Amino acid sequence: MFCPKCGASNQDGAYTCLKCGRVLRTKIVTRDRNYADDPSMRMIMPVGRSGWAIAAGYAGLFAFLIAPAPIALILGIVAMFDLKRNPEKHGWGRAIFGALIGLLGTGLLLAVFLIP
Ligand SMILES: [Zn+2]
Repeated sequence: MFCPKCGASNQDGAYTCLKCGRVLRTKIVTRDRNYADDPSMRMIMPVGRSGWAIAAGYAGLFAFLIAPAPIALILGIVAMFDLKRNPEKHGWGRAIFGALIGLLGTGLLLAVFLIP
């Protein structure tokens, strides 16, 4: 490419002119991404997610450790209602996971306490 100031020939993609030092191209400005619409970012950051779904997911995750399985079940159900009311929110996976593990854990708890 040719320098627009002095006309010197420069390598394609050169940042500045070799002869006069004029900046030939500005840094590529990446467009601001909408993180909420990026599935890979959603995996890392709780953007656009239902808080209830996150709570249900974690409660479900720890259901077998500290036995808050009924809490996970309740949170999962609340999360699903929350997600139905707010279709723009995400987190169905976590909500269902929390409710399912919560259900399993609750059944296990009941089995432990009720079956002699
Ligand atoms: Zn130049």
